[in-house]
Amino acid sequence: MTAIIDGKAISQKIKDELKEEVARKKAQGRSATLAVIQVGNDPASTVYVGNKKKACAYIGIESESFELPEETTQDELLEVIDRLNDDPGITGILVQLPVPAHIDEDTIIRRISPLKDVDGFHPMSVGALCIGEKGFVSCTPAGIMKLLEYSGIDVSGKECVVIGRSNIVGKPMSLLLLRANGTVTICHSKTKNLKEVASRADILVVAIGRPRMINEEYVKDGAVVIDVGIHRMEDGKLCGDVDFDRVKDKCSAITPVPGGVGPMTIAMLMYNVVSAM
Ligand code: NAD
Repeated sequence: MTAIIDGKAISQKIKDELKEEVARKKAQGRSATLAVIQVGNDPASTVYVGNKKKACAYIGIESESFELPEETTQDELLEVIDRLNDDPGITGILVQLPVPAHIDEDTIIRRISPLKDVDGFHPMSVGALCIGEKGFVSCTPAGIMKLLEYSGIDVSGKECVVIGRSNIVGKPMSLLLLRANGTVTICHSKTKNLKEVASRADILVVAIGRPRMINEEYVKDGAVVIDVGIHRMEDGKLCGDVDFDRVKDKCSAITPVPGGVGPMTIAMLMYNVVSAM
């Protein structure tokens, strides 16, 4: 029987553990405040920001919102970040992406102090991950490692194939699997024989941004399949990069969309915020 990995339940468990840790740290006089910056009012970003603030409230930490108008200049945004970097009361800073097109995302990511970079996107955070040092890890791949851990799936010595090489998901995912002693292959849009490479995987992580592209032909019997993709289809339903119905009977475990990887991202953001406390 295929195990359906329940990201909702696992993320709830993590948030409950964090809530206890926050209470313990508060009793020692420590505190945390997450600054959440949103530029413009993209409705999806507003929902994400709202969910992040709700999660902060749930685990018992403060969040401060900075809602900046769409026409905010890059320099104005950098000024806000500088101020928050210097503010000892702020322990984590998050700029909700994407930012409007007139602002350079990389410049913004690089301006956040690596000590407050709870999204784990700063090159210093990525570098630390690369050489196995302590630092903030990008939340979605960190959440996938927790899903594997809580589901009792050992990575050591396994053939791991990651499809997608983005800085936010694919690359840090590969590094985390490597750190856990997986034998890691990274695939991308120029990979030849994708089906053949993917179907070598004991653990297949799919982060390509193409609805239901991965079907049973890409999956080895008994593989663990982690679907990072999330797409709203014309019928209003959500689906992933994996064709769940065609793959589910072939694998040993799979994450559904919704309710798989998605809920883990915010839980791991909270994990990063608490670790900076
Ligand atoms: P991205 O567009 O930055 O990267 C996609 C990657 O897939 C690229 O490296 C590209 O080379 C590769 N790719 C594209 N087409 C391919 C093909 N035909 N064959 C092989 N590789 C191909 O995307 P991303 O930011 O990494 O996100 C990937 C998906 O995950 C998206 O659907 C996104 O919405 C979703 N996502 C979900 C969460 C979450 O919390 N659940 C977080 C981040 C991203």
